[in-house]
Amino acid sequence: MVGMQIADIQSDIDHELVSKQQIDAKIKSVAKQVSIDYADEPPLLVAVLKGAVNTLTAFSQALSIPVQMDFMSLSSYGNGTESTGTITVRQDLSVDVRGRHILIVEDIVDSGRTLNWLMGELRDRGAASVEVFALLEKPARREVEFDVKYRGFEIPDEFVVGFGLDYCEEYRNLDSIAVLKPQVYQGEHA
Ligand code: 5GP
Repeated sequence: MVGMQIADIQSDIDHELVSKQQIDAKIKSVAKQVSIDYADEPPLLVAVLKGAVNTLTAFSQALSIPVQMDFMSLSSYGNGTESTGTITVRQDLSVDVRGRHILIVEDIVDSGRTLNWLMGELRDRGAASVEVFALLEKPARREVEFDVKYRGFEIPDEFVVGFGLDYCEEYRNLDSIAVLKPQVYQGEHA
């Protein structure tokens, strides 16, 4: 025993795709636009747990207009990193969205199935409008088309973690968007 090893999430990163500075700047510029667009009709921000929490926090703090927030927990992934295509509501919103202007705050649009389902669901419940701010998009993986009005970054077809996004529930607290070293996944996807 040569002493205790201190775990360090930074040492698991293979490469960074979006830096903290880039995320901060983008979120501020989107928030500025949203503050203008929703000046007359304060939106209800809806975030999908858990991945969108970091984006929601930073984004809401950058807004200059009054907003309300609510959360939904959806399950769109089975094991590992592939979407199953089936969306289940694990935890529903606590408010009635009828007549509300909804702005969904999302971490990442991959196939687009989750958001497509959620937008339809909120419209079916009678929302006055439903728009999306997605911090990340993977255009190469997109299967369902819909309008993402407020956009962050387009990233390549790689599994990313950080700023709310996890691998096996970890790495959400990384302040940038990154790809993990291959050996981190070893044993999980053999
Ligand atoms: P979609 O329905 O668009 O295929 O998947 C959306 C959800 O899948 C995201 O909200 C996120 O939870 C998860 N997801 C998609 N791509 C990634 C990724 O690269 N990393 C992580 N950690 N989650 C992802």
